Amino acid sequence: MGAQNGNVAIDGFVASGKSTVGRALARRLEYLYLDTGAMYRSVALLALRNGVAVDQESALVDMLEAHKVSVETRDRTQLGYVVLIDAKDVTVRLFDPDVTAAVSAVAALPAIRAALVVRQREIARAGPVVMAGRDIGTVVLPDAPHKFFLTASLDERARRRRLELEERGVEIALDEVRKQIEERDRLDESRVTAPLKRAPDAVLIDSTGIGADTVVERMLAAIRDAA
Ligand code: C5P
Repeated sequence: MGAQNGNVAIDGFVASGKSTVGRALARRLEYLYLDTGAMYRSVALLALRNGVAVDQESALVDMLEAHKVSVETRDRTQLGYVVLIDAKDVTVRLFDPDVTAAVSAVAALPAIRAALVVRQREIARAGPVVMAGRDIGTVVLPDAPHKFFLTASLDERARRRRLELEERGVEIALDEVRKQIEERDRLDESRVTAPLKRAPDAVLIDSTGIGADTVVERMLAAIRDAA
């Protein structure tokens, strides 16, 4: 195992395949998998449930401290994990449109990020881990020995996301999905604290027209080459 426990950082745009690929890679490596997006989504869900506005930073921090949010590995589930809030499984709810619409505002708040980054690093210490998000290679695990930055064309990402939503029973026009994706990427790239960007030492993978299996193989080859 290399430096920093062999941890793998995967960052990228909305619907660039981070979760699918991250989960598969973690299985192949027999590492823990952590989707940090689910943690930000949990805060957004709590805000909606508690009627706290998404720009009320200190109220959101108090709210987060008052609840127990945990991510647990469940190999047999489709996502590979469940999220519990106060011991109740809220995983399915995290991907609902209202949570998705609120999450980037919550994720722009420095105090919320600081709280979640502490937890993410704790999880990495118990690793090795494959961690997916927006700031893993730049902020959360800057010393991770393996870093990837995923992208794909906007059209392909919109098609993938629409399919995922359809499978969950959410009907939405492709144009609308495209707009939502662009807006979330814009918010994530333009925020002041830990904006979405490729770490200089991250391997860029454009998965347009390429299946998840191929992306995973490329990552495994890069990891092996670095050993
Ligand atoms: O990955 P996912 O699309 O579920 O992430 C939801 C949102 O959480 C992102 O759009 C972003 O605003 C935020 N996020 C973040 N930093 C991370 C992971 C997610 O800001 N490491």
